[in-house]
Amino acid sequence: MTHTRNTAASPAAESPRRDSPSPTDLAALDARSERALTEAMTVRRLPDRRYVVETDGGTYVVALDAGDCTCPDHAIRGARCKHLRRVAMAVTAGTVPAPGERVGACAVCGRETFVPVDAAGSYLCDRHAFEPGDAVADRETGKRLVVTAVTTDRADAYRTDEGRLVAAYDANEAYGAHEPVVEAVYAESLRPDRLPSDVDSYAFPASRLTARGN
Ligand SMILES: [Zn+2]
Ligand SMILES: [Zn+2]
Repeated sequence: MTHTRNTAASPAAESPRRDSPSPTDLAALDARSERALTEAMTVRRLPDRRYVVETDGGTYVVALDAGDCTCPDHAIRGARCKHLRRVAMAVTAGTVPAPGERVGACAVCGRETFVPVDAAGSYLCDRHAFEPGDAVADRETGKRLVVTAVTTDRADAYRTDEGRLVAAYDANEAYGAHEPVVEAVYAESLRPDRLPSDVDSYAFPASRLTARGN
C-alpha cells in the first residue's frame, strides 16, 4: 500500500507564509518554550480529556485538543502558553495519557498502560504486546507461529470457529481468562505459494505465546 495522494509539497518546499512570526515574536516563543522545558510544573490528567498544570505561579487547566488554557497569558494574548507546551511535551514523553487515552492496566503484568478512553476489552503493555508478523512460540507445544492479529477481546469472551470460548479450552487453563486473544498461524503451514490469509489462524490467550527474538 503506497500513499501517493499526499506527496504535493513537502513543508521545506513551501514558500514563506505571510503570517510568519516576526523576530520579536520568535524571541517570545523561544522564551516560552524555554520556560515550558525548565520550570518546575506538575502535569496531571483530569477524569475528562483535560489536564491540571501546577506551577509556583498558580494552577491552571489545559485542554490540549482545544488548544486552551485558563492562565492569564493565554486568556489575554491567546498565546500558546508554557502550560500547553508542557502538557504536549508530557504526552509526547508518555508520562500522561493523550486526550483520547486513559490509564489502564496490562492484562498480563498489571503495569500501567495507556488505552483508548472508551476502551472496553483487554490490553497489553509495550513489553507484552504483539504486532502482526511477530514470530512467536506456543508455550504449551513449543510450536512456532506468526501473529496475524491482536484483538482486545478477552479470552472468556472470544469464540473460536468451533463456537467455544478461548478460555474454555483445557490447554488455555493456565492463562488468564481476562487476557486479550491473539490470532496466529502455524509457521509450518506457511509456504511460498500460500498467502497467510489463506492459512487457518488460531486464537490464543496472549501470555500463552512468547516472543522468539526478532
Ligand atoms: Zn497557560
Ligand atoms: Zn505487561
